[in-house]
Amino acid sequence: MKRLTTPINSIDWIPWHQPGVGLELRAESLTTLDELRRQIAVLACVDETEAPFVSCYLNLEQGEAGYRKALENRALAMRSTLEGNAKADFDAAIGQITHYLSGMLRPGAKGVALFSRHYRGGAFFLPMQFAAPLPNWIAVYPSPNLFHLMALKDTYHRYVVLLATQAWVRILEVNLGAATIKAWTEQPELRERVGREWTKAHYESHRRERTSRFLGEQTDLLESLMVAGGHTHLILAGDPALTGEIRRALPKSVAAKLVDTIRAASRARQDDVVAATLSAFVEWEEHESQEVAARFVQGIRTQGRAVAGAAACLDALRQRRADILLLARDLPPEPGWRCGACGVIRIAHPAPAACTECGRKSVQPVDATVELVRLAGQQDCPIEVVDQFDPLMALGGMGCLLRY
Ligand SMILES: [Zn+2]
Repeated sequence: MKRLTTPINSIDWIPWHQPGVGLELRAESLTTLDELRRQIAVLACVDETEAPFVSCYLNLEQGEAGYRKALENRALAMRSTLEGNAKADFDAAIGQITHYLSGMLRPGAKGVALFSRHYRGGAFFLPMQFAAPLPNWIAVYPSPNLFHLMALKDTYHRYVVLLATQAWVRILEVNLGAATIKAWTEQPELRERVGREWTKAHYESHRRERTSRFLGEQTDLLESLMVAGGHTHLILAGDPALTGEIRRALPKSVAAKLVDTIRAASRARQDDVVAATLSAFVEWEEHESQEVAARFVQGIRTQGRAVAGAAACLDALRQRRADILLLARDLPPEPGWRCGACGVIRIAHPAPAACTECGRKSVQPVDATVELVRLAGQQDCPIEVVDQFDPLMALGGMGCLLRY
């Protein structure tokens, strides 16, 4: 199981008693899922120029020592492949990246993605910091490489955690790995209400009734927060007796969104609980990927529900018939070409002198995998990154589930 750590704002005890009123503390300006979606759309539509576009993903978990060498070595190797103006543009783009890294990283960020291009018609620079980790991975290409952004979106997504102890219930949102408290409710104290005339049995029954009413209020609150936030995934955590009772009390619509239930001690640190839910979510997401992959294989067998291979996936995306794009995790580049005049993309190597469709000489070599991911980004078509699934590898490592 992957061990992940998650930052959370240091917050002091803030009691919150009134159901229906939200207490919202945002994890400090790390990129959220909604922002990521918007930025992917922006990046997927960046016009190409002759200047090299640098896509730089770095892992911040080990601090500067963890990424500096990777960045330097990769930059050196990429630079040696460029000539003339491209070399100067590349240096300027990398300069912007190192300048940003030297002073702009926020505490709690585990991964950073930087998109940089220097061009005499206007520079482009877009940095994003995440509470979830990214690999050290740097590429230069005419347009942004979105694969790791799309993979991050798929793997970490966002979900709600209800954390229950005997004393309080907290509802958190975990958004791309960053936790935000949405509600914090203390269980009303009973002791002072118990007068001398109450027997122990009477007290116990009263306590049980209060607890179950309290948990009922919490599931109502949970439901309204999930509906309001458009949430589709839930994890329960805490005292097993309480989470068991909560699970039984969940409305059907919420129960259908339950991903996992995690045992956590009352005195466990919230960061540790969130990290445990994150591991559970990532594991669940891997399982989901395998299910999507199985649906894909079934779709290939039932003609017309799925297509395999780069060429067929490109067609499906261009015709806006793709529902989900499946990609094996470590896919090699798929050499192809694109016509700048009519936009057609073909999987063939080497590229012809003129476009086979329109006859014009605006043909450029491309990596079809990058183009696929870019098209998916333009259409907000989700990508499912699949690990170790032989049937998909046998079909070229990429496929599309089609819309009905
Ligand atoms: Zn053409």
